[in-house]
Formats: sequence, structure tokens, C-alpha cells
Amino acid sequence: MLVLRGYRYELDPNNRQRTLLVKHAGCARFVYNWGLEERIKRFNSEKGKDRFTNYFRQHRELNRRKRYHYPWMYEVSKCAPQEALRDLHKAFANFWRGRKKGKKVGFPKFKKKGRHDSFKLLGTIRLFEKSVQLPRLGQLRLKEKSNVSGRILSATISRKADRWFISFTVEQERPEPLLIKGPKVGVDLGIKSLATLSCGTVFENPRPLPRKMRKLRRISRQISRKQKGSRNRQKAVIRLSRLHWRISNIRIDCLHKLTTYLAKNHSQIVVEDLNVQGMVKNKFLSQALSDVSFSEIRRQLEYKTKWYGSKLIFAPRFFPSSKRCSQCGNIKSKLALSTRLFSCEHCGLVIDRDLNASLNLELVAASWSETQNACLETGGCRLITGQCPSMMQEPNTTKFAGLSG
Ligand SMILES: [Zn+2]
Repeated sequence: MLVLRGYRYELDPNNRQRTLLVKHAGCARFVYNWGLEERIKRFNSEKGKDRFTNYFRQHRELNRRKRYHYPWMYEVSKCAPQEALRDLHKAFANFWRGRKKGKKVGFPKFKKKGRHDSFKLLGTIRLFEKSVQLPRLGQLRLKEKSNVSGRILSATISRKADRWFISFTVEQERPEPLLIKGPKVGVDLGIKSLATLSCGTVFENPRPLPRKMRKLRRISRQISRKQKGSRNRQKAVIRLSRLHWRISNIRIDCLHKLTTYLAKNHSQIVVEDLNVQGMVKNKFLSQALSDVSFSEIRRQLEYKTKWYGSKLIFAPRFFPSSKRCSQCGNIKSKLALSTRLFSCEHCGLVIDRDLNASLNLELVAASWSETQNACLETGGCRLITGQCPSMMQEPNTTKFAGLSG
């Protein structure tokens, strides 16, 4: 199967290249902001269809102005401004699509220097063992050996905490995986611990925030005390962004370990179909929730199950995984978020709340495969409630059709 994959390396530019990188990023940011301003002006001053523009029109307009107004743009690869406009176009498309669906998608924002330093390159990108050849920038050293296999489609270069990184989007051929013959597992994603598996394994949250909070506060305090525009303040800002970056690395690493373990060792993985957007709105849950990033776990599980040959199943949106007793099936009418121990008044089971939920989720996998087998035996799906899972579009990530089947 053909998959898209990202690879990221740190660059080791010399002084000349460093200046050029800054120029490229600056140009991309300038063009993005220029395009955004033009769009806003147009929307406010024109009427009807003329209020909107698109990538191609803006690109033509920019090229017209380039020669007289922005001659410095000739110093950088033409990809940088082009791709910036394309990004802007995507941001607007996303915004309008979201509004149509009634979702809250933020209006595209102006990019700030230092916070959004990145640009994208297409065209002839040649990768060697320890260097990369880029249009306009020449040959740049990498800080580690590259191990990319496949066709490079594009490269995005970005600055994080005063270090330059390059990430490649690569199209590669992966062998079709054999289906994993492992156990089924229900996964309860939580706030207290990152994930509780129905086999009893618990993945703890890295909780980087509280641990590093003190350090974060100290550096922010230092920044506010230093004079604006001073070299020392700039140094402290870099220290702060380095710390933010480390914190996010710890979290990313943790999520990858969890999802790889799940996808490599289980035949079926059941997770809740959570309404993450709805939950983040709840102010008490939001900090911890965005911290563990549910949607990132789901995104990783979706592609990793395809790579390794396991199956990802979403429990129905309103499946009562935490209110249901995993032993007798009795469903509680109420269960407060603070109750950590589930006790069933029907059969007397006392069990950890998250483990109970994960056991319930595992049951969804069991009934799902029964439904599928029944489908195969009877040769039709209408006998079982609703849709047949095997008829859904995506072969690997199948939404569970119904429990009662
Ligand atoms: Zn019970």
C-alpha cells in the first residue's frame, strides 16, 4: 500500500545559510500576512462574488507587484511565497467549511516573527546521507544520518527554539501487513492516567506540565524583568521556547509508545468515539484533556493499525462505557467524575473505574466480530441491526454499527 510519511531532521546550517533560512522564513511570513490582509480588505470593501479571491488570483497579483514593490523576493526560492499563499488558501477553505458545518474554526491569524518561522519547498530536493540539497539554499548539513526511503514530495523547514529543522513528506510503498493474531483490547483514555487497557496494563500520564511549571514560571518572570529588545531578554526567550519544546517532546514520545504498543500487539483495539471538541469546551476538563491530546492518539492509532495489520474500532458515541458494570451489564443512572472506584449495587463488583470502562469497551470488539461473522454466515447484513461493518468504506478503521446485534 502507498502511504504518506513524515521524516524530520535537525539542520546544521553555516552562517550564510542561516541568514538565507531567516530570509526564506521572513518572506513566507510576509506573503502570508500580505495575502491575509488583502483578503480582509477585499471582503470589507467589495460586494457579491468579488468579496472572495483565491490562490491563483493572489499569486498573479503578487507576481505583478514583486518586481517593483518587493524586489528582495528574488533572493529566495519562489516556492516559499507560493506555498505560503497556498497555505493561506487552505486556512480559508478550512474556515469556511467549518462555518458551514457549524463548527468553531478560528479565522486565519497573522503570523508573528519568531513564533511562526517556517516555509515549504517543492521541486528538486536531493537527500544524501548526511546532507540535503535544496533549491536556492544549496547543500545543508544534517545533524544525523538520514534514513528516508521513498519519493520526497516536499520539505518544510522550520525554526524551533533557535534550531532549524527540516521535515520531508515522503510517499512510500509499504508491504500489506498480515493480520495480527493477538488479543482484543479495550482502551479507556483518561485524565488521571493516560490509558487503561482491559488487560490491566496502565499507561501513566507523563504530566510534564506541573513538573516543569515552576521552571516555566521562573523563566517567564526573568523575561518580564529584562529590558525590552535587550540581548539578555532575547536569550531568556530562547530558553523559554526550548523548555516548551522539551515538554512537548516528552508528551509526543509517550503517545507514540502507547499507540505503537497497541497497534503491534492486538488484533482489535476499541476506543471511545469521544466528542473531543465538546469536551474541551468544558473548562474544568480542558487543561488536562488537551494535555493528553486524545485526538492525537486517535490519529496515530488510525495509521498505525493500518501499518501493522490490526483493527481500530470506535465504540458508539453514547455507549455507556463508564456507567455499565463489566460483570453483569447493569447500567448506573449516575456516576460522578470524581468517583474513582466503580461499585455495582446489582452484583457487588468493586473495580477501578477506568479498568471497568476498558473492559466494557473490549466487549464492543467481541460483539463486533460476532456481528461480522454472522454477516458472513448469513450472507447478508440486514438481519443484524443497521449497517454491516465490513461494508464501511475504510477497511481498517471501522465504526461499530450497533451493540444490540
Ligand atoms: Zn454488576
